[in-house]
Amino acid sequence: MAELRFSALREVFKREPLEIENPTANISELFATNVFDLPKMERYLPKEAFKAIKTSIETGNPISRQIADQVATGLKAWAIEKGATHYTHWFHPLTDATAEKHDTFLERTNNGNRMIETFSGELLVQQEPDASSFPSGGIRNTFEARGYTAWDVSSPAFIVGSTLCIPTIFVSYTGEALDYKTPLLKALNALDKAAVRVCQYFDRDVTKVIATLGWEQEYFLIDEALYYARPDLMLADRTLMGHQSSKDQQLSDHYFGSIPERVIAFMRDFEFEAYKLGIPVKTRHNEVAPNQFECAPIYEEVNLAVDHNQLIMDVMRRVARKHKFRVLFHEKPFAGINGSGKHNNWSMATNTGVNLLSPGKNPKTNLQFLTFMINVIKAVNDNQALLAASVINEPNSHRLGGHEAPPAIMSVFVGSYLSSILDELVSKVTNRKMTPALKTDIKLGIGKIPEILPDNTDRNRTSPFAFTGNRFEFRAVGASANCSAAMIVLNGAVARQLEIFADEVDAVIKKGRKKDEAILQVLKKYIIESQRIRFEGDGYSEEWKKEAQKRGLHIITSVPDTLKLYLTPEARSVLIDGGIFSERELESRVEVEYEKFIKKVQIQARVLGDLALNHIVPIAIDYMTSLLDNIKGLRDVFGEVEYERLAGARKEMIVNISDHISSIKRLVHEMVEERKKANVIPDLYTKAIAYENKVKPYFEEIRDHIDKLERTVDNEKWPLPKYREMLFTR
Ligand code: ADP
Ligand code: MG
Repeated sequence: MAELRFSALREVFKREPLEIENPTANISELFATNVFDLPKMERYLPKEAFKAIKTSIETGNPISRQIADQVATGLKAWAIEKGATHYTHWFHPLTDATAEKHDTFLERTNNGNRMIETFSGELLVQQEPDASSFPSGGIRNTFEARGYTAWDVSSPAFIVGSTLCIPTIFVSYTGEALDYKTPLLKALNALDKAAVRVCQYFDRDVTKVIATLGWEQEYFLIDEALYYARPDLMLADRTLMGHQSSKDQQLSDHYFGSIPERVIAFMRDFEFEAYKLGIPVKTRHNEVAPNQFECAPIYEEVNLAVDHNQLIMDVMRRVARKHKFRVLFHEKPFAGINGSGKHNNWSMATNTGVNLLSPGKNPKTNLQFLTFMINVIKAVNDNQALLAASVINEPNSHRLGGHEAPPAIMSVFVGSYLSSILDELVSKVTNRKMTPALKTDIKLGIGKIPEILPDNTDRNRTSPFAFTGNRFEFRAVGASANCSAAMIVLNGAVARQLEIFADEVDAVIKKGRKKDEAILQVLKKYIIESQRIRFEGDGYSEEWKKEAQKRGLHIITSVPDTLKLYLTPEARSVLIDGGIFSERELESRVEVEYEKFIKKVQIQARVLGDLALNHIVPIAIDYMTSLLDNIKGLRDVFGEVEYERLAGARKEMIVNISDHISSIKRLVHEMVEERKKANVIPDLYTKAIAYENKVKPYFEEIRDHIDKLERTVDNEKWPLPKYREMLFTR
């Protein structure tokens, strides 16, 4: 078995970086060449169709079948020119991956004589994939397996390889959402409506508000040969065993260091692919842990940014193979060192070009800025549990709350400067009618907020939800996640909050107060009510845990219990009353999450059991036997008395190894028994809890014995690539 490890290492040592040529002198020429974007639509579509599709993108209203036919014809012409032979509806089922089913453009002509390339509006707009194997949480029984995909006009079609991909939503026969995109679009719509309503207090020209997202994708790279020698990475996406490397990230010498050559080649290669797909990747750097890296684009409208994130993960996986790498998006592939997250930088922007979370130039625009900022804080305060639910899943549970990633408690950091502004508002604004002098004084204070906030450079890295000058950064999202889950909840919660705000302000105005005064009074109330969610200190500290408990903040403990928070009355009011999910959709979604959790724990338990019994125990026995032979030899040569002194240490080793082997066998057996018990529990939540509390705890225990064996057994015999090998060879 050790043969696989050593031959893998030999291969890695021989690797050379691939030569990656610049495809064009100017990268900008490459940008979006594989995307059917507006300029291409203008070229390939009749005027009427182009106008209709442009309006549809702006308003979200559907296009007619006749227009769809025209678009399909233009799209087909462009795609075939680009060498596409197939097309697919591309969607986001609830599996965390994207799905596609390719069809060729080929059809038999009506008289059946010939084959021609066709593509109709009907095929563009809607498809009916037989998709009975996607998770649906009971919405779809196999006897009514039909699901529909429907074109999302707001995300342009693109070509990957020789396939034209059409971004779509995915709904059941009965119209219920089976994907991430459908509720995301609803949440973004709700936000648009609510934010425009609030903007109207400040600027009548605002007719549309979009949410913006800039994700920062962290990932690990591992050489393909080593990956193949680690069944746990291959099947469970993370290492289930492995003694820590003596050196890993203590010296922070990898962070922002020079990027290794093979890695740079890989990055350049996938970035070129990304540009062709219109993904505006901008930043690349080494992350904290060895062999950990990050890639970030220029932010875009949320729906598009989410599509682009899903797409780039695919592109990276594909390109990595060419470079003999595997990309690990798992949130915690290696114990003891940093895991990977996907910071979601989020803001809102108006059709008039204003970033609503950016301080303005005068008291009026700054009051608008404060209004949006305080409403976001209030939304996070009131929905802290739901936000936790939106980011939790099995892999991310290994990361959250570790001493690197955001803590398992939701809180908001705004920086000391803005904190003092908020405190000042509370102390100055009165609920009585305010005097003109007081109002002027408050406005002067607000007017002074600088465009670049002083705290901007001095951010609190331990906060899960930090204000970073002109946006909030939601840092608890996991690296492998589809950002939609977090974005549905965040945008939905803020939308709901803005509606409540506007209702409250209108009510105060009705009572005879001026608009500005009404706004200030409601904001003051919100600042006071959201006090508990604001935290400027060290989010990793023990004191914060105690303090958070006192403040009544939710602390993420178990995955199933956190997922259950999707179903609280507060969560329902955001998600169901907000029109984002129906009751059935929400419940089924949580069921899907329970199921995913159960399956992921189940797979890990199986892999761990197999590896422990088939890989580790035999090697340990083998090594123990060689020690026994050695001792027997000593006795033969030196005799009964002298050998005792000589063999002392080895005897102890044998006892130790033997004890570890017995423990591993016992624990694996117990774990399997617990799994069997859990498997017959009919209720999904209870089953998930059993997996969390009864099965999962064995992982650490079993691992502990294996890792001790790794330190004892002859390095030449150890079958699995070690941490130092996986983290330091590249
Ligand atoms: P850092 O690591 O310092 O947080 P990065 O440059 O890695 O910064 O990432 C910042 C991300 O925030 C980028 O994707 C950037 O485009 C995004 N961003 C900047 N402004 C906004 C905004 N108004 N809305 C959404 N995202 C934004
Ligand atoms: Mg960041």
